Amino acid sequence: MRALALLSGGLDSILATKLILDQGIEVVALNFMLPFAVEKQDYAGEVAKRFGMPLVRVEAGEEYLELVRNPKHGYGSGVNPCIDCHIYMLREAKRIAKEVGADFIFTGDVLGERPMSQHRKALELEEKEAGLEKMVLRPLSAKLLPETIPERKGWVDRGKLLDIKGKSRKPQIALAKVFGMEDEYPSPSGGCLLTYKEFASKVRDLFEHKERVSMRDIRLLKVGRHFRCAASKIIVGRNETENKLLLELKSSEVYVFEVPGYGSPITILEGAKSKEAIELAAKLTARYSDAREEKEVLVEYEYEDKEQKETRVTSILVSPSDENEVVRLRI
Ligand code: SF4
Repeated sequence: MRALALLSGGLDSILATKLILDQGIEVVALNFMLPFAVEKQDYAGEVAKRFGMPLVRVEAGEEYLELVRNPKHGYGSGVNPCIDCHIYMLREAKRIAKEVGADFIFTGDVLGERPMSQHRKALELEEKEAGLEKMVLRPLSAKLLPETIPERKGWVDRGKLLDIKGKSRKPQIALAKVFGMEDEYPSPSGGCLLTYKEFASKVRDLFEHKERVSMRDIRLLKVGRHFRCAASKIIVGRNETENKLLLELKSSEVYVFEVPGYGSPITILEGAKSKEAIELAAKLTARYSDAREEKEVLVEYEYEDKEQKETRVTSILVSPSDENEVVRLRI
């Protein structure tokens, strides 16, 4: 018997996997690389190694961005389309299960832990829309849920599955102790950027102003301070690392601003390059540079002259943006 585990690397998915492995079932782990994940550390990779399981990775691409833009089942508190996101993962899991010859799929879902996607109706809806009715086992809450096919057929011993529910993580922490895994799971502080209020505003702004969103756009959302001026977007780096990233991510369409002779952020101007937008990008660059106390600051900007096929550098004299301007333009 072989099962496919949806393994985020968080505590719930680790415990669910341990329960299935302890029943003598072979497990292949499936991990999703989602564009809005906060976590940088590869917990899933570490867990797969520790348990000696093969690990399959799926990188969610532009089709996932479309789902975030137009979720069939709506958003949670931010722009997190949790139900659609779960359906996407289960559909992919169904495809991978076939490829690796897994007989069933299981997840670390805990009934009622997350308000949007883990109440009973949502769990049923998710597996139904993924074409996996009664085929998805949730070992941590199985005894509170209707019997699944893997249980009915005796592939899995339902008696050894659990009845955990709700938001308190105490039962999971106690179980980790029983398994001797107290220090081997990440704290639940990471998560998904789509649930963060500030990040959600940037995503909404992007969707409002761009018909086709690319992975590069998403990478840019995670860098710098973002400002909107009609059809133009201005991004100001907050530190050396972000300045470098902005230079890496700039396309030939953007204008790049900097204050010469002072400690200065890198600023990029995307979208329409109106006179007003150029001036605002320069003013914001001056505001966040070491020349912010000066009355007037000379700001340089660089752009590709498509006709002449060359890079041009121009400068503009501006006064740094004041607090009101920052608040008015900030996304
Ligand atoms: S919080 Fe983010 S990653 Fe998690 S289910 Fe919701 S949208 Fe998907």
